[in-house]
Amino acid sequence: MSDLQSHLADWQQDLQGKPAEVIVEWAITTFGYAITFATSLGAEDQVLTDMIAKASRKLGKTMPIFTLDTGRLFQESYQLLEDTQAKYGLDIQIMFPQREAVETMVAKEGINLFRKSVELRRKCCGIRKIEPLKRALQSKDAWMVGLRRDQSVTRTDLSVVEWDEGNGMVKVSPLHDWSHEQIWDYIKAQNVPYNPLHDQGFLSIGCASCTRAVKPGEDIRAGRWWWEEPEKKECGLHFKDGKLVRANQS
Ligand code: SF4
Repeated sequence: MSDLQSHLADWQQDLQGKPAEVIVEWAITTFGYAITFATSLGAEDQVLTDMIAKASRKLGKTMPIFTLDTGRLFQESYQLLEDTQAKYGLDIQIMFPQREAVETMVAKEGINLFRKSVELRRKCCGIRKIEPLKRALQSKDAWMVGLRRDQSVTRTDLSVVEWDEGNGMVKVSPLHDWSHEQIWDYIKAQNVPYNPLHDQGFLSIGCASCTRAVKPGEDIRAGRWWWEEPEKKECGLHFKDGKLVRANQS
């Protein structure tokens, strides 16, 4: 067991039931530059960006933030990235996939390979998202994510702080117990910039080629990889007990 893992139980006990803002401040204070925040620019992540900016001003120190540019994002997402950087004055690092890996994959499997099979979709996510993510996480002790328990059947036991087996580091989820409604109440109350596609029925926004609007009442994940079965809709960004619990998202 690593030194970090030995602290997990205490951290979970201390942070249980604490407001998300307090958890963000704790993460900055505890880890400093050894933690990084992975933003997909989704609604939850915009809430966390707002909290990190406010905590940074209060504490006089911050945490690194990065996002993944798969090369297939919506124009609205790129604009949101610029607007967010401008509003908060944050230096958000943009991670790109390896050019040669993308070129080889596309030459062999086609530009829209993700529609041909689950395996090829995972290959595309692996090259465009997981490899850059792993590069961004290199040498970190922890990362912060905007996951919520009620987002997916694979996240119902999500804790505020847990060990990410696949990445060998601590994963901090300040919004783990927030509802969809709480997220949007915060965004409106704090005037947080958000992707205008959310107002057009897009609940979860990733690559333009793999994201669509959902109808009222449909599951939040129904707009992602809609041609696949629900239990396969993850992207390998999160592991638990050595098992893949999430195999594809932005
Ligand atoms: Fe490729 Fe679609 Fe995954 Fe984006 S979401 S990396 S386009 S398979």
